[in-house]
Amino acid sequence: MNGVVSEDAVRLAMVRIPQSAGLDWISTQVLGSISPALGLPWILDIDVTVKPLYGHQQGAEIGYNPQKPGRPSHVYHSYFVANLRISLGVEIRPGNEHAAAKGLPGLWQTLEKLPRHQWPTFTRGDCGYGSEITMLEHEQRGLPYLFKLRHTAKVKELVNRMMRQGALWQDCGDGWQALETTLRLSGWTRDRRVILVRENPAKAPVRQAGKPRRGKDRQKLLPNAILRELNRPDVNILTLENPVEDEVPGITHCDLKSPKEFKPMIASFMRSDPDIILMGEVRDIESAELAIEAAVTGHKVLTTIHTARASQIIERFEQLGLERWKIAQTLKATCAQRLVKLLCPYCKEPSNGIEEFDRKTFSLDDSWADVPVFTAKSGGCQECRNTGYSGRTAILEIIPISPKISDLLAKGEMTPYELEMKVAEEGVLPNLRRSGLRLLRDGKTDLVAVSKVIDMTYTDD
Ligand SMILES: [Zn+2]
Repeated sequence: MNGVVSEDAVRLAMVRIPQSAGLDWISTQVLGSISPALGLPWILDIDVTVKPLYGHQQGAEIGYNPQKPGRPSHVYHSYFVANLRISLGVEIRPGNEHAAAKGLPGLWQTLEKLPRHQWPTFTRGDCGYGSEITMLEHEQRGLPYLFKLRHTAKVKELVNRMMRQGALWQDCGDGWQALETTLRLSGWTRDRRVILVRENPAKAPVRQAGKPRRGKDRQKLLPNAILRELNRPDVNILTLENPVEDEVPGITHCDLKSPKEFKPMIASFMRSDPDIILMGEVRDIESAELAIEAAVTGHKVLTTIHTARASQIIERFEQLGLERWKIAQTLKATCAQRLVKLLCPYCKEPSNGIEEFDRKTFSLDDSWADVPVFTAKSGGCQECRNTGYSGRTAILEIIPISPKISDLLAKGEMTPYELEMKVAEEGVLPNLRRSGLRLLRDGKTDLVAVSKVIDMTYTDD
C-alpha cells in the first residue's frame, strides 16, 4: 500500500472516469483475480452466486449477520457481492425481490467469456433453479447440473414407490443410501435422471414413539401408540398399511401396495382370526364396510379417518354410505388428535393477557384479559431457525361410546353433536379446545398456533 486517501478524494477522482470505462476495467480486474483458480475443477453454486444479489438469503432483510457461523467477514462479503454485481452485469432492484431467472443471463455471459476448459465441472442449485428453462439452457450448452427437486405430488409418489421394497438402494457412506432413476415432471418435455437419497433405515436412529414426525405418518401416531399399548404375546395383531413405516416387534404388518389388494387382504386376515386389526385409513365405502364388518364379528378395529372433530366420525361414516345403527353398534370410542406447534423457549415473548379483539374472535372469556401468555417472536432466533417455534405436541379429544349412548345414537335420539356436548359437560376426558387452552395458559404455545389447528370460534359452554 502506497498511501491513504480520503473517500472524498476517491469520489472526485471517479467523476473523471466515464462509467462504462470504469465498469469494464473493474469487470476485467475481477475476472482476472479469479482466473488463476479456473484451471482447477470447480463447481458453480448458483445459489450463493445469484441470491446475494437480491438479498433473498435468510436474514438479509434485517441486515447481514457476520456473526453467523460459516459466514465470511462483513467487509469481505460486501466487497465480494459488489464485485459480483458488476462482473455479472445484474440489474439491482430494491427490496428483497428475488428472481433466479434474472441473474442467469449475466451468469451465462460471464461463462461464455471463459475458455471452455475453464468452465465449471457442473452447476448446482436449489429447487428454485430446477425449472425446465434453466435445465434446457444447461443442456444446450452441454453443462451438467445438479438441482434439488420440489416436493411435487409426482416426486412424492416416486419417493413412496421407491421406499417400498424392491428398489435397489446403494450405500453411499455416512449412513446414507442413494437410488438412481428417471422422472418426467409435468411441464418437462422429456425424462431426466433423478437421484433419490435417504437415510439408511438399518442405521438410522430408532425414533421414539409419540414423537412427532413429518408428513403423512403424523396421522398414524395415535393408532401406532395404541398398538404398542395393546401389544402382548397372547394378542394377535395385524396391520394393513400403505406403506408400513413403523414396525413394532410382535405385530404382523402387511404392506398394502394398491387399493385393489384391500379386500383380499382383509379376507385372508379374517382366516387367521386376529384379535386386533389396524387399518391405515378409511377412505371409501369399501374400506368402511370392511372395518365395520370386522368389528361386528368381534374384532377390535383401529383406524383413522379425516374429520374436523371427533364426533364427526359418525357423520363421516354415514357420508360414505353406512347406516347409522351399524356405526353406533360397533363404534367403541373416537379420538381426535392435533399437533400444536410449541414456542421456542429461547425467544418466546411475554404478553400481558389477550386483547379484546382476539378474545371476541376466539370466544375467550374476560379472565384472559390479564392472563400472562407468550407469543412467538417474529423472526425468531438462531435456536429455532428464525421461526419462533420449536417442536410440536399432540393434543387429544376422546369420546367414548357406552352401550346406552350407542342405543340412543342408533335410534336417532341423540345427535353426534349432543354426544360431544355431553362428554364436554362431564369435563373428565380431554377435549381439543381445553387441551389447547391449557398449553396456552402454560406458556408452551401461542394463540396463533392453537387457532391454526382447532376451531376456536365456539365454546363448550
Ligand atoms: Zn427462537
